[in-house]
Amino acid sequence: MRNKIRRIGVLTSGGDAPGMNAAIRAVTRTAISNGIRVMGILKGYRGLIDGEIIEYDARAVSNIMNRGGTVLYSDRCDEFKTDAGMRKARNTCEEYEIDGIVAIGGDGTFRGAADLSRLGIPTVGVPGTIDNDITASDYSIGFDTAKNTVVEMVDRLRDTSESHARCSVVEVMGRHAGHIALQTGIAVGAIGIAINEVCFDADECIERIKESRKNRKRNFIIIVAEGMGDNYAENLSNQINAATSRDVDSRFARLAHVQRGGSPTLQDRVAATIMGNRAVGLLIEGRKNLVVCSRGDKIIELDIEYALNLDKRYKNKLPDEQFAELSESDQKSMTEIIERKKAEIKKLYEIAKIVSI
Ligand code: ADP
Repeated sequence: MRNKIRRIGVLTSGGDAPGMNAAIRAVTRTAISNGIRVMGILKGYRGLIDGEIIEYDARAVSNIMNRGGTVLYSDRCDEFKTDAGMRKARNTCEEYEIDGIVAIGGDGTFRGAADLSRLGIPTVGVPGTIDNDITASDYSIGFDTAKNTVVEMVDRLRDTSESHARCSVVEVMGRHAGHIALQTGIAVGAIGIAINEVCFDADECIERIKESRKNRKRNFIIIVAEGMGDNYAENLSNQINAATSRDVDSRFARLAHVQRGGSPTLQDRVAATIMGNRAVGLLIEGRKNLVVCSRGDKIIELDIEYALNLDKRYKNKLPDEQFAELSESDQKSMTEIIERKKAEIKKLYEIAKIVSI
């Protein structure tokens, strides 16, 4: 049977990301085009517990594509993680006759999606997080916009750094991944990029700054990923001042939440549209407990448990004993993906360093 689904719910949860609205629009219109009614669930999983749900027609999602944030709002809902919370969520789905859900967010959101699938509500995840820290997907919605926002901000800092011959140490988002830092570091011509994935030698970086200053370089930019730790960037800036006796006047800047906002770029709008469309297609095919992923130039779907285990393994949170319990083919494919991703980061980092003299 092609279509047993009559109503689907859509929600956004966890950290918001530009492009989530384009995904909501794609989900809504793909469903409606297939004769399925759409329920917009407000404030992530909180809306499933409190029954904050509104029906969306095709026009309800007009003129949201260009807006940052999420029109469905987001929330972090700990109650949803409890048995009682889950029961409430399931009852709400029954009450509203929701027989499939598209959950847009990060790995926390996918954990919730896996729980919902287990409770009998078919759920499909769509990766939406500016950090691009979902290992299963090469790309997540919001990443491109956030990177471009960082580049625009740092370009402005560079103008004033050049005038005053300063160094700017800029902390960017990415608690669990240095993708924003690495790519923006390259794009702004940073002299140093501090991320956890590659060993960053602060003393060596400061020596290069001193050398370049002798070579008449006036402004310096260092990009630091948030995941390097609290105050890392600020301390590094102080270290530069001390090591150069303020010959290089260094200032610290944290870009913080401006990185989350703004009108999504073309890439985020297109990725969100394709992924949202695929998520509904999977539910129509009667499939569940999946996450839509980009792999190279393709869109694929992976089992959510597989995706979460892969993520844990990549972040060194899946011990060897647990990894060994997975099927041999899963172990093999996960190892290949992790090695490829690590090699790509290393290669980019090396290029960044070569051109940062
Ligand atoms: P993200 O999806 O961006 O990773 P969070 O980790 O905050 O953001 O997760 C978003 C929401 O997903 C949480 O507030 C919670 O409602 C739900 N969630 C997170 N972890 C779990 C879990 N282990 N089980 C069930 N739901 C979860």
